[in-house]
Amino acid sequence: MIKEFKALWEGLWTVFKHLFKRPVTLEYPEKRRVLNDAFRGKPSVDGCVGCGICKRVCPSGAIEYRKNDEGKVYFYKFDLKKCIFCGNCAYYCPKGAIKLTKEYELASSDKNDLNLIYKGGTDD
Ligand code: SF4
Ligand code: SF4
Repeated sequence: MIKEFKALWEGLWTVFKHLFKRPVTLEYPEKRRVLNDAFRGKPSVDGCVGCGICKRVCPSGAIEYRKNDEGKVYFYKFDLKKCIFCGNCAYYCPKGAIKLTKEYELASSDKNDLNLIYKGGTDD
């Protein structure tokens, strides 16, 4: 009996302790948290010169790009099914062409939506 009463008291005390605290959750999607500057979301590319460093440093093989005969990048793809948002590509790109945006609502029922294709290695 004492054991049950103790358990009940502990439960009530836990509820009481949190009654006047600010909630840690938000009513998403109506309300959204302000993201930290270091947040790493959907990657984008603009101004790629096709040096290949991002592809080499990507730990999950999420990057693919193609160059034409003149050496210009005409196709650049991030595969979000593989990307782990580590930021290596952006960190090592010598041209600063890759940015990890604050976009995070990337779920889709169509896996083709998870191929981010940038024609010409630019973001337009
Ligand atoms: S995005 Fe940057 S690192 Fe990757 S191929 Fe283009 S210029 Fe090189
Ligand atoms: S963020 Fe990381 S995993 Fe994603 S494409 Fe860049 S290097 Fe690859």
